[in-house]
Amino acid sequence: MTRSVFVINAGSSSLKYQLVDVDSGVALASGLIERIGETSSDAKHEVPGREAVVERRMIPDHEKAFGWVLHQFTEHGPDLGAARLLGIGHRVVQGGARFDRAVRIDDDVAQQIDDLAPLAPLHNPANLQGIRSARATFAGYPHVAVFDTAFHLTIPPAAHRYAIEARIAAEHRVRKYGFHGTSHQFVSRRLAELLERPLEDVNSIVLHLGNGASATAVRGGRSVETSMGMTPLAGLVMGTRSGDIDPGVIFHLHRVAGLSVDEIDTLLNKRSGLLGLTGTGDMRDVLQAADAGMPRAVEALEIVGHRLRGTVGAYLAHLGRTDAIAFTAGIGENAARVREVALEGLEGLGIVLDPERNAGRGERRISADGSPIEVWVVPTNEELEIARQVAALVEP
Ligand code: ADP
Repeated sequence: MTRSVFVINAGSSSLKYQLVDVDSGVALASGLIERIGETSSDAKHEVPGREAVVERRMIPDHEKAFGWVLHQFTEHGPDLGAARLLGIGHRVVQGGARFDRAVRIDDDVAQQIDDLAPLAPLHNPANLQGIRSARATFAGYPHVAVFDTAFHLTIPPAAHRYAIEARIAAEHRVRKYGFHGTSHQFVSRRLAELLERPLEDVNSIVLHLGNGASATAVRGGRSVETSMGMTPLAGLVMGTRSGDIDPGVIFHLHRVAGLSVDEIDTLLNKRSGLLGLTGTGDMRDVLQAADAGMPRAVEALEIVGHRLRGTVGAYLAHLGRTDAIAFTAGIGENAARVREVALEGLEGLGIVLDPERNAGRGERRISADGSPIEVWVVPTNEELEIARQVAALVEP
């Protein structure tokens, strides 16, 4: 008999959802509402094998958005009763040092998510808005928060503490939290299955390369180091985010270039990374431009590769023994050239790619036979991971 979980990712003006069959992993329905609160919103509800419902209409707030979603399930299916809906899973970006796993949401948990808003001012308030509206619309079902940061709470203090005045760090909760935890957890577990070894015995490096990008070193199923920091701005070069820079650049841009803190925030988060280097934040366009010999795109790929190789090298050192490296997310799963530049010249460290396997598609090993460290492409599925965590919590 089917068991399903309704997975929700609420942004400030958007709502993404999927009804997931927990046991097969199949999406029974999915949808997206964009531009909530504007004069015209776009809404889409899709059920596999049927024509998608697409509407443009005014949806003033998240509560009305959930009303629309519920109406779609009633009108177009699937029937939530027949799908045996176990509960609702909410993606929450920042769980702070408090939430090391998924939790059932009550008023106290909602309050704590609110208290964490200063650490994720763009995300947590939007996630919470989604939670409040969903609890009102889907009353009677258990609601569960699944945090992007939770998987990384096993990172030891030596790796999560910044070398700044301890009192200030403690007072303002300044430390590394890390993000994309749901994806790193899903992929590292799947990788152990693919290696046919117990999770506890596998050391791996997961490279989640999408619009946002992060690397994680996983020892026996536990995150021990990750590239994002207190915020998702740190680490690798991303679509529009700079990743690591000398923090002194910020003072320079303020004092010498005359940019305000908000302007620098926008510069580093929204106008840097691939976009800042090449004029496009989309890796497909960067690769096309590099193939055509455009110098800025060629150089951007070199910068992306340099940063990735440095990160992989550091994580090999942190782990001591690494069994496998996994690439995942839009770029990691689809861009053979990026996987190539990420591991170029690392043969001496035991990482040997097979060019033909690297050029293929789907979940597979892409390292050469005999490569001491195996390299895999493992498609991520954050919705399924959230659904599983919800199911494990509400129906253990
Ligand atoms: P998000 O972080 O928003 O979930 P995704 O994981 O979907 O992002 O990744 C988006 C990135 O993946 C974009 O830079 C896009 O260009 C890239 N991408 C998607 N498909 C391909 C492809 N076939 N080849 C190269 N890059 C791709």
